[in-house]
Amino acid sequence: MHITFACPACAATVAMRGVESATALECSACRARLPIPADALVAGPDGEPRLQRCLVCPSTELFLRKDFPQRLGVGIVVAGLAASCVTWAWRELLMTFAILFGTALIDVVLYFCVPDCLTCYRCGARYSGDGSETFGPFDLETHEKHRQQLARLQEQASRKPAAHA
Ligand SMILES: [Zn+2]
Ligand SMILES: [Zn+2]
Repeated sequence: MHITFACPACAATVAMRGVESATALECSACRARLPIPADALVAGPDGEPRLQRCLVCPSTELFLRKDFPQRLGVGIVVAGLAASCVTWAWRELLMTFAILFGTALIDVVLYFCVPDCLTCYRCGARYSGDGSETFGPFDLETHEKHRQQLARLQEQASRKPAAHA
């Protein structure tokens, strides 16, 4: 399993492979170590370890999404639209439809080829190579809950120094 996360100590983006055989996550920038909780990975029916919760923060809520750079997907659509505008201006009707159809086809093919990855609602850590069926797709309500929790924590943190002054 492969993880990409933001180090809680120095905020550097850390990528690490073979998480299932490690006992701790280590930041490559500041060497901070995050011990992997014993209950975080549980072996599934096929013996492969399955993620039960986030390894970086205490959250047990993660969502499944395509491990696909969103910018690339948008880029393909924009390029297809731009190209079709050019052919449209040239009155190349067939070419215009071929480009639009091709663009849609590339997106569909990529969607099915790209593997799923798990993302933590709370800290944004991403896990790929986990065959987990424990977690569902993105849920706006859960996302909103975590966003509000984070906002509250930040507000508390910003109030604290004022109370001491
Ligand atoms: Zn760090
Ligand atoms: Zn997390």
